[in-house]
Amino acid sequence: MSTLPEAVDLTPATLRLRWPDGASALPAARLRAACRCGDCRAGRSRSDGAAVQLTDALPVGRYALQLVFSDGHDRGIYPWAWLRELAT
Ligand SMILES: [Zn+2]
Repeated sequence: MSTLPEAVDLTPATLRLRWPDGASALPAARLRAACRCGDCRAGRSRSDGAAVQLTDALPVGRYALQLVFSDGHDRGIYPWAWLRELAT
């Protein structure tokens, strides 16, 4: 059972999450670079670096968030537990 955030706040540059025990802010470029969808792991989808922005965040069930980036990439699924790890 993973911890769910109490609040999700999306801006183009940053995904902010509020947890029961704290808060985290994840830069868009960091999230994009950390994407582990099949395309990214195979090197078929490359980030355009620091210029990338977040355009949308969609819940996936109760376990994850799907992030959409300004470079058109929308295949990244980010489980809450992983987002907590990324923020530390
Ligand atoms: Zn990806």
